[in-house]
Amino acid sequence: MTQKRIAVYPGSFDGLTFGHIDIIKRASLLFDELVVGIARRPQKDLCFTVKERMEMLKKATAGISNVRVCDFKGLTVDFAHRIGARFIVRGLRAISDFEYEIQLALLNREMDRQIETVFLATSTEYIFLSSSAVKDVILHEGSAKKLVPDYVEKALRKKLLKNKR
Ligand code: ADP
Repeated sequence: MTQKRIAVYPGSFDGLTFGHIDIIKRASLLFDELVVGIARRPQKDLCFTVKERMEMLKKATAGISNVRVCDFKGLTVDFAHRIGARFIVRGLRAISDFEYEIQLALLNREMDRQIETVFLATSTEYIFLSSSAVKDVILHEGSAKKLVPDYVEKALRKKLLKNKR
């Protein structure tokens, strides 16, 4: 029997965007199983708890049978190892992503040579899209309808504008 091709798509997903969802859908076609990994990192500037991010990701991926959502603590390569994944998926937007992402990929390879990082280029309509850009739009009371699912927009509005009103 050939080995199942399992990939991890790790990230913060702090404000799940259509850019993330696009990468998930496209990566799910490349692997037998795609595990979206919510990194449990102590970051002061995050809007959502792990539980909230998990709920949003589960909602967005409910119709894709080979995708599951997990959270993890520690190094991505260690998480990948634990779940039998040999691939790490990352999305690339502009050149500015490249510098950070290549460094991360090389570091991960240094730590575990069995695991390959696979980059998916963003779809052109999402090249400008990031969770932080969406937060800016919401903070300035603009519409994020074309950027994130409606439940994410609603949740961001609730978090970000609660002290403004
Ligand atoms: P992290 O804190 O790990 O960068 P993010 O949630 O910001 O977490 O991003 C997770 C992954 O999704 C990264 O590889 C990032 O480059 C990718 N990504 C984010 N937004 C987009 C987008 N609009 N198009 C393609 N990839 C994206």
